[in-house]
Amino acid sequence: MTELLYLKDHYLREFDARVMKVEGDLVTLDRTVFYPTGGGQPNDTGTIKWTGGETLVLDVSKKTGSITHKLKAPIPPQDTAIHGVIDWERRYTFMRYHSALHVLCGLVYHMYGGLVTGGQIYPDRARMDFDLQDLNPERVKEIENACNKAIQESRPITIRFLPRDEAMKHPDLIRTKINLLPPNISEVRVVDIEGLDYQADGGTHVANTNEIRGIKVTKTENKGRINRRMEMTLT
Ligand SMILES: [Zn+2]
Repeated sequence: MTELLYLKDHYLREFDARVMKVEGDLVTLDRTVFYPTGGGQPNDTGTIKWTGGETLVLDVSKKTGSITHKLKAPIPPQDTAIHGVIDWERRYTFMRYHSALHVLCGLVYHMYGGLVTGGQIYPDRARMDFDLQDLNPERVKEIENACNKAIQESRPITIRFLPRDEAMKHPDLIRTKINLLPPNISEVRVVDIEGLDYQADGGTHVANTNEIRGIKVTKTENKGRINRRMEMTLT
């Protein structure tokens, strides 16, 4: 098991850890700030240093509680004490996009009852798919304006850990498909954008909507009879 430091503090950029396992160029640490690809958010990149060595973290992935860091050579041997630093500019952009997507999905639900069916963040854009019949240009403009208004309202974004039973009773969490969570998860991590969106989520977010600064909807697409895709960039 790797201690997932990024789950509790989204603003941690560096950390000390120990190498637990090495398999080729894949290294498992006892704790990490490197976010693994998942939940529509791409992995962090960065560097790892140790006495007598330094290398790049090229990819990060998660499997059954452990985080695997794919490193460029040289590879530190097992038991090495390391210092890791993430590429903050890349991560902070993902945090802004991730929170922007939650603002968008909260508003599309409140305005039109549209449910999210998928989403993905990229370094230069993000997209989200909704269960929505009608998404004409007028509605898109309304949604974009509502997002920017909410962003400028400086709403706090907080993380909470709830017992599963309690989480299963919350209507907003049921809406965001909490029933899809694996049965062995006893605690649910919830990301709350004050008065706007409340969902079970494992991603990293900014602490206040004002850090998103603003968004622009750049594209919409029909992905099926009732599936509408919206693409956005940060402004
Ligand atoms: Zn999310």
